[in-house]
Amino acid sequence: MSDVTLRLKSLTKTYLKGTPGEVQVLRGVDLELNAGEAVAMVAPSGAGKSTLLHIAGLLDMPDDGQVEIGGQDVSGKGDRTRTALRRQDIGFVYQFHHLLPEFTALENITLPQLANGTAEKTAQDRAMSLLDRVGVAARASHRPAALSGGEQQRVAFCRALANTPKVLLADEPTGNLDPETSDQVFDALMTLVRDEGLSALIATHNMDLAARMDRMVRLEGGVLKPVE
Ligand code: ADP
Repeated sequence: MSDVTLRLKSLTKTYLKGTPGEVQVLRGVDLELNAGEAVAMVAPSGAGKSTLLHIAGLLDMPDDGQVEIGGQDVSGKGDRTRTALRRQDIGFVYQFHHLLPEFTALENITLPQLANGTAEKTAQDRAMSLLDRVGVAARASHRPAALSGGEQQRVAFCRALANTPKVLLADEPTGNLDPETSDQVFDALMTLVRDEGLSALIATHNMDLAARMDRMVRLEGGVLKPVE
């Protein structure tokens, strides 16, 4: 069996195709993410990071090219299969936490598991274990508004990993935080990535954080290039 968890092959994407405002964002993106590997993606703003992550996370479709998850080509799958794959195999983290404000930290991590058919007690145990590992177990019963920015983002990481995905995709996960908090929150994220044996593609502007991952790629001119 291949140990490539996520493979992107010749992905292309153009917005406003055929109009004067046409933007060719991706021009043939290739990437192989191996099991247990954390890859940093650096790119100037507007280079197409979010577009790439959304396509890799099955939230958007490429014009051409393929996305393979666990060796399975998922490019041509229907909406229902893509939604199921997204729920089971992919965790997504954004710059902003996007937690549900009316639910507690624990509930925010439990709900996606219940939606996936996990029993309540098992889901709660998993949620507490995740919160514990990122150092916010004591805040489990608080709603997002009562948490600091760093705590909110740690809870968002736990929610992304609630259903034990194979792949974590993160779009500037510490971009909203001050430098010191950013460092600590990034450590918490990497602890989870290593602990869970995840493959992670993490977009960041922070070169110090990028350097702490296994390798770095740069998105430029619509293609991904290795950074030595
Ligand atoms: P990044 O995340 O690297 O900042 P994005 O993927 O958000 O870049 O955007 C890449 C380029 O595509 C930008 O020039 C942006 O304006 C353009 N773009 C993104 N989404 C759309 C859209 N839905 N329609 C038209 N242009 C878009």
